[in-house]
Amino acid sequence: MVVFCVVDDKYIPLFRVLWVAKTPHFCGEDDCEREGQYEIRLEDGETVWAQTQQERDEVLKQLEVWAIGEYGGDDADDSDEDAPEEP
Ligand SMILES: [Zn+2]
Repeated sequence: MVVFCVVDDKYIPLFRVLWVAKTPHFCGEDDCEREGQYEIRLEDGETVWAQTQQERDEVLKQLEVWAIGEYGGDDADDSDEDAPEEP
């Protein structure tokens, strides 16, 4: 079962992830060390940074697998259940 994802050499419990940035970080600061990285916000206001889009996508993929295991795949294509197909 997937519980952790690795971001920036840290094991991050997937249930602590609040959101994942869609676009790379850009704030315009000259000395910004995070430009081009993807922010991953955790509970308690903590943030970790995926170094590459590939790393971020890996997190998203693992989040998806974890969420389906945790909450069940409601969007699965088992069409024999609650299909409101009245004539
Ligand atoms: Zn910045």
